[in-house]
Amino acid sequence: MAITHNLGFPRIGAKRELKFALESYWKGLSSRDELKAFGAELRKRHWQEQAALDFAPVGDFAFYDQVLDMSFTLGNLPQRVRDFHGDTLDNYFRVARGRSAESVEAHAHCCGGVAAGEMTKWFDTNYHYIVPEFSADTQFRLDASRLVAQLAEAKALGVQAKPVIIGPVTYLWLGKAKDGADRLSLLPRLLTVYAELLNVLAEQGAEWVQIDEPALVTELDEHWQHAFTEAYHALKSSRVKLLLATYFGPLRDNLQLASRLPVAGLHLDAVNARSEVLPVLNYLAAHKVLSLGVINGRNIWKTDLGEVLDWLEPVHERLGERLWIAPSCSLLHVPVDLDSEQKLDAEIRSWLAFAQQKLQELQVLAAALRVGRDAVKARLAENRAAIEARRNSPRVHNPAVKAAIAQLDAQLGQRKSAYAQRAVKQAALLKLPAFPTTTIGSFPQTAEIRHARSEYKAGRLDEPGYQTAMRAEIERSVREQEALGLDVFVHGEAERNDMVEYFGEQLDGYAFSQFGWVQSYGSRCVKPPILFGDISRPKAMTIDWIKYAASLTPKPMKGMLTGPVTILNWSFVRDDQPRSVSCQQLALAIREEVLDLERAGIRVIQIDEAALREGLPLRKSQWKEYLSWSVESFRITANGVEDETQIHTHMCYSEFNDIIASIADMDADVITIETSRSDMELLDAFDHFNYPNEIGPGVYDIHSPNIPSEAHIVQLMQKAAERIPAERLWVNPDCGLKTRQWGEVLPALRNMVAAAKLLRSAV
Ligand code: GLN
Ligand code: ZN
Repeated sequence: MAITHNLGFPRIGAKRELKFALESYWKGLSSRDELKAFGAELRKRHWQEQAALDFAPVGDFAFYDQVLDMSFTLGNLPQRVRDFHGDTLDNYFRVARGRSAESVEAHAHCCGGVAAGEMTKWFDTNYHYIVPEFSADTQFRLDASRLVAQLAEAKALGVQAKPVIIGPVTYLWLGKAKDGADRLSLLPRLLTVYAELLNVLAEQGAEWVQIDEPALVTELDEHWQHAFTEAYHALKSSRVKLLLATYFGPLRDNLQLASRLPVAGLHLDAVNARSEVLPVLNYLAAHKVLSLGVINGRNIWKTDLGEVLDWLEPVHERLGERLWIAPSCSLLHVPVDLDSEQKLDAEIRSWLAFAQQKLQELQVLAAALRVGRDAVKARLAENRAAIEARRNSPRVHNPAVKAAIAQLDAQLGQRKSAYAQRAVKQAALLKLPAFPTTTIGSFPQTAEIRHARSEYKAGRLDEPGYQTAMRAEIERSVREQEALGLDVFVHGEAERNDMVEYFGEQLDGYAFSQFGWVQSYGSRCVKPPILFGDISRPKAMTIDWIKYAASLTPKPMKGMLTGPVTILNWSFVRDDQPRSVSCQQLALAIREEVLDLERAGIRVIQIDEAALREGLPLRKSQWKEYLSWSVESFRITANGVEDETQIHTHMCYSEFNDIIASIADMDADVITIETSRSDMELLDAFDHFNYPNEIGPGVYDIHSPNIPSEAHIVQLMQKAAERIPAERLWVNPDCGLKTRQWGEVLPALRNMVAAAKLLRSAV
């Protein structure tokens, strides 16, 4: 009898209900009690949707972030929010967002705004968590109220509850010691609180507790490995059974360690670590449960159930009752319900599974294991048909694209001359001043732009009407840039609502969902496009807009594209071919666009790779391979142009130190990066590497409404010039300006241009 369970359910709601409830509360349009009641309502709904499982997760719901929830449970609040006298939920939002709900006027004078907690990526997903803050004297104090209350709710609803918490070692691993203290020195103190917590959960009737330790899939040094042994020996006498959950990849050299920890069960990501299932069977003590994550919790494809059963049945025979099955990780990373999709192409839809469908797949597997495949013959046949249809579909496989990929050679990614020669030719053509000024691409997405787009999408504004509206916006941004006296112009991206979606919509091989939302952080969701087939470009995607913009001015107009690596990293991708191949296909498609732009007379082309660093694998040992194909894809995209054509790329805030050689390898003539908040320190990596090409270090933080002063920009550029020769420096904002208002953008850019002029007069 295989047991079924789930590691976590998407909390945002099938129609992003939680997002809207949160934002309404933050704006003061609803009360705290209403928000709390809505949270309970969502939890109830989600448990009902998981009713068929033997164990449903409790505590996976969070109003903002599960790591922040854990920080509150452990009483680990940053010092700056400790004296808040309002409601705990408001304090929670203060840590998350730097302020509480607007409605909590009462505390505005004493403890309103604080610095928000730092946010960073949750392992290799696009989910962002609030980083726990530590110092040498951090003390922990248990507050189990959230978990106790949710367990009671679950019990009242008859849910077989399995509380979910983040394990102590991963919790420390996720955090940062502001004073440089050794986080592991906090472990003994932390374990006392975990032991208390487990006791409370036992008292509340929990039999099993899922304790998440995804840090086990990363490279750990001996201190961290030892911490696992220490932690789980300390917790071994607790009265609950611990299911130690690992996910997001294989355990590799931590496999023995994880298998031998004194817990009642181990969960393994059997999608990404299938090859570890057999070794684990050998290491695992005879009393332990093995939970296998057999359904991919990170993508949106149907599982090949027959194939899973082929290898799972023998495991089931060996383990019997000791086998549990589940999705590979929490379903937080997939949309909720495919049944909401009414517009998705029926054929493509038949290949997909969102969270609810994945749980149904799990039930089919469980039934097949329990009573035999015959009992679910129809479901298995239906699944087989869908898997086969996808495998053989001409919509997935395009022989012309495959042929082009087969012919890829290094030549394709090679510029005609080296940077030094190109730079001379580009200077002669573009005739730019020293410290040339430019922007990163987008100008404010005004209410009028968004209105025109939604009218157009709803069919109330016709194509010519939409074109006229967007052209008017483009003209406006060109006129503003002229008035500002910028050197290299952009068209402003008025016609794009998202830098990936815009291209995905025009490429063959992409599909779009209506409700395929995935939480990115807090109330923020993204709707990743679905890359389902071989990628090709039926026709030019940006040329008309850019040509129009260029026709309005004698100044150089930058063509603006999103690079293949970023498109890939922000999409749901195929599981039937390596990411590298999908990336190369994207590269060939965007390359055609680059060459079309050049043919249209555009001599400066920016290819954004905002998400290149994000795609780095969890283990450093795999970085080289990723960087090799991702950089090569960029080079294929960019490097078909003439020497005179200047290629720009842009990257958002990244730690550049450990990837600087790869950045240099991209060989863009100019790279613009987000640096202003680092006080130009990010340039050290470029300096130490002797980065040879041009750099535009961002001189103003576009996330903030503050207007940077001319003096501040000059100061930043002087710091930049200490690291990079002045003749290779550009002056630009940190990133695109689409989230700002014109009223903020114009004075900021005026100061930026003035600063550049001042710098020029000094050389
Ligand atoms: N060109 C894009 C813009 O200006 C770049 C955005 C990004 O890097 N995230 O909006
Ligand atoms: Zn950016």
